[in-house]
Amino acid sequence: MQISNRIAAVCESGSLKMAARCQEMRRQGVDVVSMTLGEPDFAAPEHVKQGAIKAVSEDWSHYGPVPGYPSLREAIAATLGGNYTAGEIMVSTGAKQVIYNAIMVTINKGDEVVIPTPSWVSYVEMVKLAEGTPVTVPTSASTHWKMTAEQLKAALNERTRMVMLCSPNNPTGSVYSRAELEALVNVLVQYPEVYILSDEIYQHISYVPEVVSLAEFEQIRERVILVNGVSKAYAMTGYRIGWMATKSRALWQAYNRLQGQSTSCACTIAQKAAEAAYKAPQDCVEQMRLAFERRRDLIMSLMTELPDVTCTRPDGAFYVFPDMSAYYGRLAKHLGVTEAVGSAAMTEYLLNEAHVACVAGADFGEDKCIRLSYATDEQTIREAIKRIKTALAQL
Ligand code: PLP
Repeated sequence: MQISNRIAAVCESGSLKMAARCQEMRRQGVDVVSMTLGEPDFAAPEHVKQGAIKAVSEDWSHYGPVPGYPSLREAIAATLGGNYTAGEIMVSTGAKQVIYNAIMVTINKGDEVVIPTPSWVSYVEMVKLAEGTPVTVPTSASTHWKMTAEQLKAALNERTRMVMLCSPNNPTGSVYSRAELEALVNVLVQYPEVYILSDEIYQHISYVPEVVSLAEFEQIRERVILVNGVSKAYAMTGYRIGWMATKSRALWQAYNRLQGQSTSCACTIAQKAAEAAYKAPQDCVEQMRLAFERRRDLIMSLMTELPDVTCTRPDGAFYVFPDMSAYYGRLAKHLGVTEAVGSAAMTEYLLNEAHVACVAGADFGEDKCIRLSYATDEQTIREAIKRIKTALAQL
């Protein structure tokens, strides 16, 4: 039977694929250490759970309004420093669906979307689903994996309709400073037809004094599609609540139409739990952030024990993105192959030899590196690096 051309061209999510393999090996009794997780290992805070339980008891069990409950949208707007009203917010099933919807309602066939890489696995695939043309801009460790204003300028042209930015970044952990964003904004003001999708889902997980939102820049605010949600900050990934803020009424209405014809609304119980997350004191967010910071410091210090591996220090999110390319030649020799091998072969080797699961950098657009998530306990982090060290020593 037919599978549409649209979906045939889309790649499977590399991180989800690796997580599934890891689960399969565990089922077979193999002691696999997983560093693939793109989610906090903490349980959702108690007040969030109570918010969900209360919503069930109070029968919030009917369809909700398409853009989300006004009370939740008000709570979200209250976090945005007076820059947005509740009427400019749209709630969906996770930031993933927000980004998908936003692309679907703005991008036509052949429109170019600029994506600095390494980038989150789904951006390029979503643009392809919308029949847009992803224009990737490779960045390097020398700029801490950040796109410079010159690179942005070179990538923009009259066909560009969107630029996607993610800070703090998955997979590199880089965070754009105010000055770096200002430089990008100075380029973007010259392209008034271009939307700027700012994925700020890791906003609250950072180790630098300030994380600047692109929505702070008045010159471009009309065109910013601000994306955030509760998944990472409140350890609520399974609740699936994300949101968009936009100043464009036309975009908001188009999005509302798409959501009305696809999912109707995000889960009402989860919306009530998200409302509880936003309305309560925010100490739980800070406690989890502190734990991630300790783990970041731990994994960075342990990685210095891996010879010939270099890694930029992440300023946010919960991933390290070490450069493993010094081992690729040795790995090819070990595997007895003549062709060059890269990050996919390296993650395969680490899974089979060290029983450590991580994600190939190629899935994020940078084959030199692999991604390790440190959203896991300190003992697991120590064990993973110890096993990787032993496996690398065999090459
Ligand atoms: N954006 C980035 C950069 C992510 O890493 C993720 C999740 O891994 C998402 C968006 C999606 O988050 P959500 O759980 O809200 O769909």
